[in-house]
Amino acid sequence: MSVAVATGTLRTLHRMHRQLEDLTGRLAAGPRRLAVLAAALAAAESGLQQAHESLKRARLAADKKQLELKSAEVKIRDLEGKLNACKTNREYQTLGDQIAADKMATKVLEDEILDSLERIDALKPAVPAAEAAIAAAKRRLSEEELRVRDEAGQLETEVARIRGELAATEKELSDDVRERYDRAVKAKGADGMAEAEGPSCGGCHQQITSNMQSELLTGRVVICRSCGRLLYTPAGAGQA
Ligand SMILES: [Zn+2]
Repeated sequence: MSVAVATGTLRTLHRMHRQLEDLTGRLAAGPRRLAVLAAALAAAESGLQQAHESLKRARLAADKKQLELKSAEVKIRDLEGKLNACKTNREYQTLGDQIAADKMATKVLEDEILDSLERIDALKPAVPAAEAAIAAAKRRLSEEELRVRDEAGQLETEVARIRGELAATEKELSDDVRERYDRAVKAKGADGMAEAEGPSCGGCHQQITSNMQSELLTGRVVICRSCGRLLYTPAGAGQA
């Protein structure tokens, strides 16, 4: 090939490398999206577990209070039974005071039981809500899995097509240009090349010499002295 077409070939190769990077970026984005959705599903599942545990703790607390109430009531009935056996007024009075105090305590317990039953009622809706959240998270994950699988198939086909074209186009490069191109691509991928934008490098925006500019216009490949990118002329410029 002549030197004059090297810059045009480089432009084509640069476009292909950018396409490949875009495609591989999109291929990598699919599994990342799935990982986010899988994490959301795990969070929803742990939400359900927490809802069950809160409800269980609230029920245990209510049961415990109810048992306490029952035994307090048994104790009061027992004391009341002993009232008739009292031999002195003083004994009767003391026992009566004790019973009154115990009855006050059971009132407090009854209030606490009502509160704990209300708490159970308030916690109950969290379970179906968490189950609905899990179902929604599962649905989103499986829909996305299908989408990612479809997309990956298309992207991989496209990658294979461009790789084939890229390999064929690379053969057009002369040996000396090929060597510099291989080095640039190995080091920086698509970023190893840039279009010259007037008097500056399109990659790092540093000025290039007028000598380099005229070399570019004759179709030669020029290396930016600041960033090392292989430069080529914009389409339609010079003879390339
Ligand atoms: Zn540069």
